[in-house]
Amino acid sequence: MASSTYRHRDMKTALCVLSAFAVLGVNGLPDFSVTDATISPPGEKECSAYYYAPVGNAVASFPTIWQPATIMPSDTNAQAKWESIKQYIPDIAPKGNTDGNFDGVVYPADDPDCWWTATKCVTPKAQGIPADIAIMPEPRTLGYGFDDGPNCTHNAFYDYLKSQNQKATMFFIGSNVMNWPLEAQRAITDGHEVCVHTWSHHYLTAMESEDVFAELYYTSSHQACGWSHTNMLQGKECLQPLDRNVPHLADAFLSSNRFYQPPFGDIDDRVRAIANALGLRTVLWKYDSDDWQVGTPTSPTATPQDIDANYQRMIDDAQKGAFDTAGTIILAHELNDFTMQEAIKFYPKLKAAFAHIVPIAVGLNITHPYVEGNTTFPTFEQYITGSMTLSTNFTIANNSVLSTSSSSSPSPTQSEKKSGSIRTLESSNASHLLLALAVFAAAAATL
Ligand SMILES: [Zn+2]
Repeated sequence: MASSTYRHRDMKTALCVLSAFAVLGVNGLPDFSVTDATISPPGEKECSAYYYAPVGNAVASFPTIWQPATIMPSDTNAQAKWESIKQYIPDIAPKGNTDGNFDGVVYPADDPDCWWTATKCVTPKAQGIPADIAIMPEPRTLGYGFDDGPNCTHNAFYDYLKSQNQKATMFFIGSNVMNWPLEAQRAITDGHEVCVHTWSHHYLTAMESEDVFAELYYTSSHQACGWSHTNMLQGKECLQPLDRNVPHLADAFLSSNRFYQPPFGDIDDRVRAIANALGLRTVLWKYDSDDWQVGTPTSPTATPQDIDANYQRMIDDAQKGAFDTAGTIILAHELNDFTMQEAIKFYPKLKAAFAHIVPIAVGLNITHPYVEGNTTFPTFEQYITGSMTLSTNFTIANNSVLSTSSSSSPSPTQSEKKSGSIRTLESSNASHLLLALAVFAAAAATL
């Protein structure tokens, strides 16, 4: 399958390619928010590091990638927003550490915090917080979700989804978006639903409330500015507050994306309250493919056959009628070639087992998946009858400018130095995320 993502190694190359390929948007400005994600210069390889000015210019305004986020000292907008919402956050103490070590944590059996990690609780006990989204309300319907992207080798996977006219919900990590903004744009351009999977992919219940806020805030605002909306080309816009002139309090808290998925599902009512104050609704899953485990040091015995069995378990349940009343949500990963190849392998079986496979927003009949911008999704009925496809109408704000400042680019990981389509599993793609954490953390110091 052909690569179809535009990349560039330096600013000079970028501008040359842009001048050659960009189409004109409003006011004659280049509308490369669309074209960037579809251009494939001959000879370019996936996962070559590149510099993208709109992100490069804004990087100093965001937390260090792959590190647990904190509110930036100079970010008065974020500080003001946090000050405005912190009074609504339940007084629940952090649990364990951000790497998921909960040794020594004493937690009551009656689950006072609705801590999903402990009990799989999805109905908050604190007042005023909506229940988590853990099912699809329509019968025999699968909510099709992928965590941990964007991944720089995802073109074959995205090409496959395109060939099937299948849209999915992609829960992107903010740090990954900073490194691979054009790959993130491909998801938008292809019509997938893009949601939040935090800034640095750590355990949220371990963080102080202000840091939980930062993990979500910078991912949401980054997505708004970095790639999912009309501010893509305007690094300066990323510094603007998300608040708009809105008529009532609830709307004042809205951020750009409506949904987030907590890494490892690790939330309690404190995390939920912070997300809710940012306009983010929690999405969880019932079926975990555990595809991420293959090749990871933390799961040394996990095999591809285990993952096959996990997929098959859900398919068997579907065939036994488990979803005849309400559908479900699967957790899979845009993490490495194996996880994406596994998704491709099982897609026909999922299609056979379920009546409908839909993005989360479509399954919930949400036709405006982002608070900002003009992206429109079909209703559930429109989607399943094929009468309308997901579409995103990108335009560039009138004052868009190309910046020409430069900075160094992160290096691709060893596991990402590959080209072309998704490969079958091999040892080098083991523990992509862990490798990325280490390599990008080092790279971040140069950004
Ligand atoms: Zn994840």
